[in-house]
Amino acid sequence: MVATLGIRAAAKSRRAKAHRLRYPEKVIAVRLLNDAVYGGKLRRSVFCEECGLPKKTQGHHEDYDKSLEVNWLCKNCHAELHIEREL
Ligand SMILES: [Zn+2]
Ligand SMILES: [Zn+2]
Repeated sequence: MVATLGIRAAAKSRRAKAHRLRYPEKVIAVRLLNDAVYGGKLRRSVFCEECGLPKKTQGHHEDYDKSLEVNWLCKNCHAELHIEREL
């Protein structure tokens, strides 16, 4: 017998894996960016470039080949941008 939670968790991890396989260049770019931030080469902005509010920001890549060229966006603005692009 398999618990309901187990099935849902498995489905979620399968989707995450499929996503990684579809967008490998994105995964690589995000990893390089994070390495640069943690290594002190790049500073994460404390302000969102879209709404200008002081928030925890995420690096948004316009071009995944340029892993260190990002726009720093808060979670909300970043999500909105991707929803617009992918529609
Ligand atoms: Zn924002
Ligand atoms: Zn993005």
